[in-house]
Amino acid sequence: MTSIRENIAQIEQKIGNRAKLIAVTKTKPVSLLQEAYDAGCHDFGENRVQEMAEKQPQLPADLRWHQIGHLQTNKVKYIAPFVALIHSVDSLSLLREINKQAAKNGRVIDCLLQIFIAQEETKFVLSPDETRFLLQSDDLDALTTIRIVGLMGLATNTDNEAQVREEFRGLKQLYSELATIRRPNLAFSELSMGMSGDYELAIEEGSTMVRVGSAIFGSRL
Ligand SMILES: *Cc1c(COP(=O)(O)O)cnc(C)c1O
Repeated sequence: MTSIRENIAQIEQKIGNRAKLIAVTKTKPVSLLQEAYDAGCHDFGENRVQEMAEKQPQLPADLRWHQIGHLQTNKVKYIAPFVALIHSVDSLSLLREINKQAAKNGRVIDCLLQIFIAQEETKFVLSPDETRFLLQSDDLDALTTIRIVGLMGLATNTDNEAQVREEFRGLKQLYSELATIRRPNLAFSELSMGMSGDYELAIEEGSTMVRVGSAIFGSRL
């Protein structure tokens, strides 16, 4: 079996300087996160608020924590003091709560909007039209302690490469379209797409952040 250090080195080599590697650490114990940190990976993704909030104080303070799973409004407060980027924003009401909690903590919190691109029925995602509507809404300008820095998407879980590529390409197109909108708190620079099975494809289609779990830590039980 290869080590976490070797896995990270191999993946980093494939990515080169084209995208940032987010190590997805959900369900993994703090000791393994420390190993990944020591191997040079300082961006970790968790999908459950409670798990992230428990692990955060046990690891170095310069680690950047990424919320990649559905975020309930009433849980924003637990991660607002430290979270680096929330990838999974799916509504204006969630943005409002993030804005409120960011202000309480004297911070500006960066967010991505999670877009529906897969064939599977998914909850907690925005359609392209909902996203256009949201970004054109004048209500956004009042939210001065958030920044929307891009989009996130999950491709269909399939071996059909052509389909996955098309889904990533569609998301990149939407990204390029929306990046032209000018608002004080929009600063598009990140497109979060690609996981263990499809990150190379995603990078070819324009990803700037890949979220990789099992290819680093082994499969989750
Ligand atoms: C679990 C998860 C990943 C990582 O999946 P792997 O296939 O283990 O790389 C990426 N993104 C999200 C949103 C996840 O929940």
